[in-house]
Amino acid sequence: MREDVQFEDVLEGLRLHDRGYDEAFLRSIYEFSRQTHGDQVRRSGRPYFTHPLHVAFILAHLGFDETCVAVGLLHDVLEDTLAERQAVADKFGEEIAQLVDGVTKIGRHSYVRRDQAQAETFRKLILASAKDIRVILVKLADRLHNMQTLEHMPVESRRRIARETLEIYAPIAHRLGMSKVQGDLQDLAFYHLHPQEFGELRNQIQQKVKHGRQAIDKIRTHLVSLLTDAGIEAEISFRVKRFYSIYQKMRRQGIDPSQLYDYIAFRIVTPSVRDCYACLGVVHQAWRPVPGRFKDYIAMPKPNLYQSLHTTLVSPSGEPFEVQIRTKEMDLIAEDGIAAHWRYKEGDAEPTETDQSFSWLRQLLEWQKDVQDPRTFLNSLKIDLYPDEVYIFTPKGDVFSFPRGATPLDFAYKIHTDLGHHCVGARINGKLESLRSELKNGDIVEIVTNPSRFPSRDWLSFVATSRAKTKIRQWLNTEQKQRAIEIGKRLVERELKKHKVGIKRFLDSDSLVEYLTAEGIARPEDLFASVGYGKISVRHMLNRVLTSDELETVGQEPGPLRRAVTKILPFGSDAIAVKGQSDLLAYLAKCCSPLPGEPIVGYITRGRGVSVHSVECTNVQNLLYNQEREIEVEWARQGDEVYPVVLVIETEDHPGMLARLTEVMAKHNSNIRQIEAETIETGRGLIEVVVEVQNRKHLERLRQSIRAVPGVFAVGRRRGPGSKTDQETG
Ligand code: MN
Repeated sequence: MREDVQFEDVLEGLRLHDRGYDEAFLRSIYEFSRQTHGDQVRRSGRPYFTHPLHVAFILAHLGFDETCVAVGLLHDVLEDTLAERQAVADKFGEEIAQLVDGVTKIGRHSYVRRDQAQAETFRKLILASAKDIRVILVKLADRLHNMQTLEHMPVESRRRIARETLEIYAPIAHRLGMSKVQGDLQDLAFYHLHPQEFGELRNQIQQKVKHGRQAIDKIRTHLVSLLTDAGIEAEISFRVKRFYSIYQKMRRQGIDPSQLYDYIAFRIVTPSVRDCYACLGVVHQAWRPVPGRFKDYIAMPKPNLYQSLHTTLVSPSGEPFEVQIRTKEMDLIAEDGIAAHWRYKEGDAEPTETDQSFSWLRQLLEWQKDVQDPRTFLNSLKIDLYPDEVYIFTPKGDVFSFPRGATPLDFAYKIHTDLGHHCVGARINGKLESLRSELKNGDIVEIVTNPSRFPSRDWLSFVATSRAKTKIRQWLNTEQKQRAIEIGKRLVERELKKHKVGIKRFLDSDSLVEYLTAEGIARPEDLFASVGYGKISVRHMLNRVLTSDELETVGQEPGPLRRAVTKILPFGSDAIAVKGQSDLLAYLAKCCSPLPGEPIVGYITRGRGVSVHSVECTNVQNLLYNQEREIEVEWARQGDEVYPVVLVIETEDHPGMLARLTEVMAKHNSNIRQIEAETIETGRGLIEVVVEVQNRKHLERLRQSIRAVPGVFAVGRRRGPGSKTDQETG
């Protein structure tokens, strides 16, 4: 914000946007407002007139016309001074007087409650704006400057004004496509409502940008050279996303800043629409796009006329980043919305009836015509300003709002935590529906529970509210700690048994107390939990707790647990070792079936030991697994074990093919466990075969040889059956 604005700076704004103006006329308005406000001061101690002057400055620099600027200068004279509407009309004309009247609050009488007066004021504002959109534009500039100077207000007013800004003015700016104004309003409101969260988030983002600087520059340089090579003229910039939008996203997804990746966006501005799509092709070839994140707002503009291509890509180091591609004109509209639109329509200052960017305003009035009570009007205004929310009813008629995409589980958790924990389904408008069903505006929802059912981890993948996510996580963590204690205790007992020491003697020993004190562990349960989580090695611990006599006694018999493991893993459990803890149960996750040599990662599961995934597993990448449960695992040794792998081979469909393929596999010493062939279309066949391989290299060699067989089109590897995931559901 400019600290000291002069009248000349306002005129400069008009000139910058090629707006014609009558300087003498504007100066007379300037003088009138200055004299009328006289020696009034703002709470900051500065002359009151600095405020209308600033508002006029904002309007001029957004590209609005002379009339808007004049109204900006005058917008508070009716409200805060003794000036009369008629005087303004006589001096500066009826049009200006009417606009100034539109932004003037309803006079507050002592018998009218604040919320009543406020609602009435909004109604008046919206009605006036529907007649002339410039009323709301001046009001937005007014609010923006008030937000910029909010720190001088008492705390309570600050919170009230900030909340009102978030609920009403920012969404209106959004509807008008004025994203710069919207972003400023939201960030300022965020700062005043949650100063601590704002500060923390800003610091964390700054740190992230500092650390990511090199990677960002690398991407940028690469982008520049790619586009130059492709012969596309383009301006490339990058920016950190708005704090408030990052904050909202984190809350929506229930994540903390460490899990936040796409906090920056690259912007490519090109001369033509054709270049935009050419750019898109270039970036999609250079980086892997994240499925489902491509949006074509050029072909399908947003209701506020925003146009751009959006896509999210994954950098070589695995970090997602967003790229927005648009033309220069689209870029201006994306930033300034209606203001930019207006600028393009030369000579025609007043927006026409057909201007879509504010047709919603008229529609709103159309729908609200019959609403008599101003507070009801205000509430429905809020609903209409939030197209991203749905309103859901309880059978008793209570209403709750949810983000779009919310499910019965979100609803259940909103009402009561236990209702969520035991939720098995819902009656939506009387019909029984699943937990995953998406709720729609106006649905009446009744939750169905079963006391013996509990949350499962995959719930996290479809709930939409952070409340539900938090509650599910809390339950899983407590539950998992309980499981870790059980696993840990069993592991300790097993090891103790080898040394012929009973658990009771162990728990009662003084050396255990000493050990716990030395390690800062409060209770034996916490020790068991740490063992269960794989943080403490049983052997290391026992080496310090047991006497040397006890340590020397070692039995031979493998415990029942070991036998159980061998059952789970047909090829023996020794293939994987959990780092620093060779005793933890480990099994290969079915969703990705990692092979020896592949990078892997382990997660403690509820009661089943450690599940081992490929780091490339989609479930791991989508953070379906709780990172607290993550432990390091590594391949122990590479012996004679073989691993089943599913290969999907697309071939020409003729009789000799199967024989040729089995021959190749035999040559590579790969046993075939199972083979199926089908014809997918005339002349094309699909062969699915389960072969045994020793490791990744072996698999690669095998795949290459298969690919080399004449008539083979493609060889793919299927990880797990379909998209079925390996969840730890109970
Ligand atoms: Mn004002």
